[in-house]
Amino acid sequence: MPKLTLRDLDVRGKRVLVRVDFNVPTEIRGGKVRVTDDTRIRESLPTINYLRDHGAKIILMSHFGRPKGKPTDKYSLRPIGEYLHSLIHQPVIFSHETIGDVPRKIVEHMGNGDVALLENVRFQPGEEANDPDFATALAELGDFYVNDAFGTAHRAHASTAGVTKFVSKSVMGLLMEKELRHLRDELQDPARPFVVILGGAKVSDKIGVLKALMEKANAILIGGAMANTFLKAEGIPVGASRVESDKVDLARELLELAKQRGVTFLVPVDVVEADEILPGANMRNTSRLSPQHGIADGWQAVDIGAATIALYQEEIAKGETILWNGPMGVFEIPEFGDGTIAIAEAMAQSGAKTIIGGGDSVTAVKQAGLAGKMTFISTGGGATLELLEGKELPGVAALTDKQ
Ligand code: ADP
Ligand code: MG
Repeated sequence: MPKLTLRDLDVRGKRVLVRVDFNVPTEIRGGKVRVTDDTRIRESLPTINYLRDHGAKIILMSHFGRPKGKPTDKYSLRPIGEYLHSLIHQPVIFSHETIGDVPRKIVEHMGNGDVALLENVRFQPGEEANDPDFATALAELGDFYVNDAFGTAHRAHASTAGVTKFVSKSVMGLLMEKELRHLRDELQDPARPFVVILGGAKVSDKIGVLKALMEKANAILIGGAMANTFLKAEGIPVGASRVESDKVDLARELLELAKQRGVTFLVPVDVVEADEILPGANMRNTSRLSPQHGIADGWQAVDIGAATIALYQEEIAKGETILWNGPMGVFEIPEFGDGTIAIAEAMAQSGAKTIIGGGDSVTAVKQAGLAGKMTFISTGGGATLELLEGKELPGVAALTDKQ
C-alpha cells in the first residue's frame, strides 16, 4: 500500500515531529565530539528545508549509539545539534530531555520554521521496547509525524513505529522516499543486464538477499569472505580462510539454484592469499583455483585476485543496472583493498545505473573517492539488506496509507 509523503501534508504552523537518523560516526578530538562522516545528517536536509520553507515547527528526534535506555553523556545528541546548526545556518534548539515538560515548553515557544532537536530517544528504555507510554509522550509533541530515518526503518521502536498510532497523520520524509524508490521500486523492473555484486563477511548475513536477487538478477558476482564458503562448496581447498562450515551445503544449493534460473553466478577464480590479516603480512596472488590448486595451508583469502578482477570488470561493463553490497576483501588494510577499489572503479566507469547498498561497501566507495560517480548510495545498512530481501520495513509499514 502506498504511503503518504511530506507533500501530502499542509504543514504551515503545524508541529511536525521528524524521526531522522543522526546516528553518525564520530570521534573524540581535543575533548570534543567530532562528526567524521556527516552523510546521514546532510541527507536529512531536504526534508528539514522543505518543512522550514513551508512554515512548519520542526521537532527532530534520533537515536545515537547504544546507551541502553539510560542517559549517557557520550551519546548525547547535543554536539550533533551544533553540527546541524553549522549546516543550516539557523539555531537548533536543543532539548536536553527527550519527553516531558522541557521539550513541551520548547515546542510551545517555537515559531514557524524553527528547528528543535530532542535528546537521544535511546536514553529511554521505552524506545527499543516500543513502549506505548513513551510513544504517546513523543506523539504529544507533534501534530504530524515524518519518518525520514531510513537507516533505522527495519526496527519497530517507539520513535520509528509506535509513535504513529498516536498522531493524526504519519508520512515518509524525502530521504525515505528516495531510498525506497532506488532500492525497492526501480529494482522491480531494472534495466538489463542487471548485475549484482555481493561480498562482505558472511554468507549467513546475505542469504535472504542472495535468494531474492536470484529471482531478478542476470549475473551475481561473489567476493569477500563469503566467497570462501562457495569455494569450499566447489571442493576447492580454502586453507586458513574464514569459512562458515555450516553454510557449505546452503552454498551448494545456491549454486544449483543459479543454474536452474539461468543466472550467471560467478565466484572468484583466483584470490590474494596472505599468511596473516595484518598490514605487512606476506601475500601473493594464487594461480587459477581448482580442487587440485586451492589456497595454501595456513594462508587465507584476503581479496579477489587479478584474474577475478578482470572477469568481474567484464561483467560490470555489460550491466545496465549494477547493485553492489559488501567489499571484495579486507579493504580496511590497504594492501588487501585492490579488488574492492577495482569494482568501485569499474562501476563508476560503466555508464550504468549504479547503486551501492549500504554498510562497509559505502565506506569503501567513499574512501576510493568515487561516491560522486554513483547513481545512488544508500544511507542504510541492515535496513538496506532487509529491503533488498523484499521485506517490508516496520518503520514504513506503520505510516498512513495513501487513499
Ligand atoms: P557490508 O557492510 O557492506 O554489508 P559486511 O559487513 O558484510 O559488508 O562485510 C564487511 C567486512 O567483511 C569487512 O570488515 C571486511 O574486512 C570483511 N571481509 C571481506 N573480505 C574478507 C575476507 N576475505 N576475509 C575476512 N574478512 C573479509
Ligand atoms: Mg558491515
